[in-house]
Amino acid sequence: MREDVIAAPFFEALADDAFAVQRCGACDRAFLPPAPVCPHCHAADVDWERTDARGRLYAFTELLRTPPNFDEPAVVGTVVVEGVRVLAPIDAPYDALSIGDPVALVPTDGAGDHDRGRWADAPFFTAEPRPDAE
Ligand SMILES: [Zn+2]
Repeated sequence: MREDVIAAPFFEALADDAFAVQRCGACDRAFLPPAPVCPHCHAADVDWERTDARGRLYAFTELLRTPPNFDEPAVVGTVVVEGVRVLAPIDAPYDALSIGDPVALVPTDGAGDHDRGRWADAPFFTAEPRPDAE
């Protein structure tokens, strides 16, 4: 795994079965994708923070046609975790989902057999429903 890229702590967290976001020390907002400055207030006081990755489903769809080497059909969606919207594959049937459902982002080996480039050996993540949510 490459340690010279800004996203390295994100993948290191996934390797530890955790999920990480960046948080701004000036405005306290979390964000992804990683950046050297806060996208909200432009402060350079940003650091990584691990989270339990429990969130809510913001939007979702079913892809009936996918790019080569991706599983088909595929359910993907946007999950809000710590106020950050994250695009993720969803490990649930499309018909079983509703907007606002509680989900958790969990590390996986990734789905399909597509080329992930320099991150080929890094863990990936997927969203799973949280049946234990209140
Ligand atoms: Zn900020």
